[in-house]
Amino acid sequence: MSRTNIRDLSVCYAGTNGTTHALDRLSFSLSDGEIWGIVGPSGCGKSTLLRVLAGVLTTYDGEVSINGTRPDPKRQSIGLIPQNYALLNWKRVEENIFLPFVIRRTYPDRAYADAVIHSLGLDSLLRRYPHELSGGQQQRVALARSFIQQPDLLLMDEPFSALDTLTAERCRRLFREVWQENPVSTLLVTHNIFEAAELCSHVAILSQSPGRLVRVLHTPTAEDIRLLIETQWTEN
Ligand code: ADP
Repeated sequence: MSRTNIRDLSVCYAGTNGTTHALDRLSFSLSDGEIWGIVGPSGCGKSTLLRVLAGVLTTYDGEVSINGTRPDPKRQSIGLIPQNYALLNWKRVEENIFLPFVIRRTYPDRAYADAVIHSLGLDSLLRRYPHELSGGQQQRVALARSFIQQPDLLLMDEPFSALDTLTAERCRRLFREVWQENPVSTLLVTHNIFEAAELCSHVAILSQSPGRLVRVLHTPTAEDIRLLIETQWTEN
């Protein structure tokens, strides 16, 4: 059972024009079987939160732990799907999918890996290079790479935003199917309130910068989310 705890997380960036307060005393926890949507206005610290959880940004106040340990990509399996999918163009689909294992010098569960590749419809694309794939296919490769790691935590940054409506819908459906087989705790940053309502068990609404937790909605409808953000973001 995996658990991610965030307690009083505050992040400040020191820049040439002074300090930017990006996140302000953020607290919440997520467990297996939960998909948390993070919804907030541009600049409220959503990417900062993902960078802290991915173990890339290590200077912060408060406590952040994944299964009791500070996020550290060398010691934990943290799946990250960035907006651009971060596939290596000079490596074939198969090499991209298994890259995390090569880096960490470990071996995948081959039967599980084959099942994920099959579920995501990637069997016939394994020998291709990323530039030979459509956006939706690249997205599915990124999903396969993350799921096959069986991560303790899956982080997704606007993963469907670059896709056309029908492709995004198909990718969301495939994501749900694969996720149901392996319900890893997932944090999904999204601007799309329909996507948040469709996929997320909890939706955390952040305030304008610096990002504070306004409210956590449990299995909300898109209308619940819209009403809350309309009042919050116009009042501030
Ligand atoms: P979001 O993802 O919600 O758009 P970010 O986490 O990217 O927000 O940024 C939060 C705030 O921190 C913004 O005001 C942004 O300008 C600032 N910021 C982000 N990264 C840096 C950085 N490396 N140095 C200085 N300020 C930064």
